[in-house]
Amino acid sequence: MTELTLVTGAGGFIGGHLVKDLLAKGHPVRAVDIKPESEWHQVWGDAENRLADLREPDGCAQSVAGVGSVYNLASDMGGMGFIESHKAACMLSVLINTNLLRAAEAADVGRFFFGSSACVYAEEHQTSPDVTPLREEDAYPAMPEDGYGWEKLFSERMCRHFTEDFGLATRVARYHNVYGPHGTFDGGREKAPAAICRKVAEAEVYERPEIEIWGDGKQTRSFTYIDDCVFGTQAIMDSDLAEPVNLGSTTLVTIDELVTIVEEIAGITLERRYRTDAPTGVRGRNSDNTKLKQALGWEPDTSLRDGLAVTYGWVRDQVLAQRAVALS
Ligand code: NAD
Repeated sequence: MTELTLVTGAGGFIGGHLVKDLLAKGHPVRAVDIKPESEWHQVWGDAENRLADLREPDGCAQSVAGVGSVYNLASDMGGMGFIESHKAACMLSVLINTNLLRAAEAADVGRFFFGSSACVYAEEHQTSPDVTPLREEDAYPAMPEDGYGWEKLFSERMCRHFTEDFGLATRVARYHNVYGPHGTFDGGREKAPAAICRKVAEAEVYERPEIEIWGDGKQTRSFTYIDDCVFGTQAIMDSDLAEPVNLGSTTLVTIDELVTIVEEIAGITLERRYRTDAPTGVRGRNSDNTKLKQALGWEPDTSLRDGLAVTYGWVRDQVLAQRAVALS
């Protein structure tokens, strides 16, 4: 019988997709989140779905009981609009990682995966739109994104020392801007691709002529499609990569270019209004995948246009459903 796998944050974006894929591959899954099931992005009936607050040691101990491996994707997070104004809340996710690592070690779990972030990298490496891709070693000397990034870097080190001191096998992926269907697309926690898809869909559905863009549109990012994230997460878990590794696309685009692609998918062109007072994060960010490719012989390869077409279709459906409710 295959061992039971725990996915935390399973009611969230990446967790929901990972549970689906693990189940499809025949792995028994325990799916845990703090939110009531009615608020999960995706609920999979074949999983053992549970509610727990993983900041609490008891919630962690009950969640890891009997599992062979843990994917820890639970955290209190969101896009720049959220993390720049909720630094304490982001840092409190350290309780999740700390107590889950302790519980995993006590329960003799075989492997522990932690979903870290490109926000661990210092701003000084990300001051130009024409950014040099970030290598894993650029995380030190440490000066990560305030709040959220510090929590991620600290939790990465916790993983490292749990391996060194207690022999718990840990794997850490630094995700770079993951997007796709079944993610947060409104309410304040959404990230740029979902926010832009929503704004374009609203413009299309409500026949609005313009779009608001945060920043001057010239900031750059790479965006990783969810299927690549789910594949890479499991490949890193199964690999012998004991150090943190980037998991991100290397296709660098400006936010203006991202908007243009979504407009082309929607078949509309909008007047752009730039909000230069809005939170935008670093000026440029890209992933160096040298280590990932060496270890896995693979890197994220879904084209941005293909991934956005699926994402836009899903977000547009949500906008249409919201309009139907408002009209009823
Ligand atoms: P998400 O917000 O959709 O999912 C996180 C889930 O964790 C939520 O469902 C939330 O309810 C749950 N959670 C929060 N506090 C909890 C608690 N105390 N106990 C149990 N569950 C709790 O986020 P996501 O996009 O799916 O991200 C998953 C992980 O990947 C997070 O750790 C995030 O920081 C990391 N990450 C994501 C991205 C990205 O672009 N999505 C980028 C870098 C890193």
